[in-house]
Amino acid sequence: MRIIEHWIGGGSTAGLSTRQGAVFDPATGRQQAAVLLAEPADVDAAVQSAVKAAADWSDTSVVRRARVMFAFRDLIDKHTDELARLVSAEHGKVVADARGEVMRGLEVVEFACGIPQLSKGEYSAQVSTDIDSFSFRQPLGVVAGITPFNFPVMVPMWMHPIAIAAGNAFVLKPSERDPSPANFIAALYAEAGLPDGVFNVVHGDKVAVDAILGHPDIAAVSFVGSTPIARYIYQRATAAGKRVQALGGAKNHAVVLPDADLDYAADHLVAAGYGSAGERCMAVSAVVAVGAAADALVAKLAERTQSLRVGPGRDESSDLGPVVSRPALDRIVGYVDGGEAAGAELVVDGRRISVEGHGDGFFVGPCLFDRVTPDMAIYTDEIFGPVLSVLRVGTFDEAVALVNANPYGNGTAIFTSSGEAARTFQRRVTAGMVGINVAVPVPMAFYSFGGWKDSLFGDRHVHGPEGVSFYTRGKVVTSRWPHVHDATGAQLSFPTSS
Ligand code: NAD
Repeated sequence: MRIIEHWIGGGSTAGLSTRQGAVFDPATGRQQAAVLLAEPADVDAAVQSAVKAAADWSDTSVVRRARVMFAFRDLIDKHTDELARLVSAEHGKVVADARGEVMRGLEVVEFACGIPQLSKGEYSAQVSTDIDSFSFRQPLGVVAGITPFNFPVMVPMWMHPIAIAAGNAFVLKPSERDPSPANFIAALYAEAGLPDGVFNVVHGDKVAVDAILGHPDIAAVSFVGSTPIARYIYQRATAAGKRVQALGGAKNHAVVLPDADLDYAADHLVAAGYGSAGERCMAVSAVVAVGAAADALVAKLAERTQSLRVGPGRDESSDLGPVVSRPALDRIVGYVDGGEAAGAELVVDGRRISVEGHGDGFFVGPCLFDRVTPDMAIYTDEIFGPVLSVLRVGTFDEAVALVNANPYGNGTAIFTSSGEAARTFQRRVTAGMVGINVAVPVPMAFYSFGGWKDSLFGDRHVHGPEGVSFYTRGKVVTSRWPHVHDATGAQLSFPTSS
């Protein structure tokens, strides 16, 4: 059985770990590898390796740091296909989708290559007689990232390229369900010339996470995962005095107005609802059909949903692969059973799908519900599977009220041909990312990504300007080089500009 080790300092190591977690092939349901689960001493070893590396790395010129990032960028580009296959093998998503994931991560690396420009400060000459003021930003030291299973390359890349380019050392605790891509990335950083210890990986579960949250040498924690864990991470790590950004779960709504192009909307909603088997934090899971849009929209969604091909991720003809695990599969099917029992109309039922030759794989086909009401668990809970719910409302105002009443506020979208409706929506809706005729409004790397309400704990989103701000702290210097004849004796009144 292949054993996936930690990456601490210069390479792969078993450390002190004695516990192991199973890594499955979701397409066959069989265990394909075992991952070491860190003990607190392993986390400490990773942090000490980072502490050792951080001082020299932060003193390394910003141009040299950028050059390492450029080299890393080229290596990711060169190995995109290999990385995508690794993601698909452990996560289950189709390879084309995994390639898209790697590309979106690569965009953050490209953003981080601009660190000389991004970290420029401000300068004001002669703010008072012979006095200049200037500001600059400095790295925090050692920072950590704790990441979910659903984007094992892209989500960590929201964090480490910017943190490292800014001069920090990084400790990554990836998901124990698809851990291999993290080690692949560590090897690429080493090949790119990143000094040993600047990027470290500790694999593990709650034991490793708790060791990170309490570690005195970690200055900041970035987390992405489900809302209950995000809340826990935020509370524990801020109580330990750390800077924290903790991105949580989602229930993304797409509002469809009667004036929308319904074929266009249906194409995009099916892609957004079922792509990656619904295991995306930006997946659309609630379609809010307004007024006369509903009947025609549901018919178009049903037709497209029925034609989707479910199969192994490595088969390029599959539209969606298996979900990540047996418990995830059972949970999703349980929600669909519950939705039916609660009275929602199950228009497309993917529960009993069978994929030839993959009887034990974690497959569930796309499910489409109509006439879902806000009290049903299929609406209130994040299912994180290929389940799309249509809710019918009478007016635009009711649609906005429904979106805003939801405790999550990650992404939301509107489909309409009315500029006025779109503009009102973008201003009134309480979510961090808004799409106008765009179902999955994931911002480019040079903007920041993050939600509102229970989708984010902390005040800074990831990547873009807020990412740079998160991994650095500002300093303002007030400087005077007095002429000898300026000596005026001690002046005790509060200094003002003169
Ligand atoms: P998860 O919360 O179960 O796990 C995330 C990380 O937390 C993993 O590294 C895991 O090992 C660790 N963890 C799990 N349980 C823990 C516990 N009790 N104590 C301490 N650490 C623990 O999430 P997941 O199932 O891996 O990923 C899916 C979730 O992530 C969904 O809710 C999805 O919406 C969310 N997500 C959000 C975003 C976003 O940008 N907001 C992006 C991707 C995924």
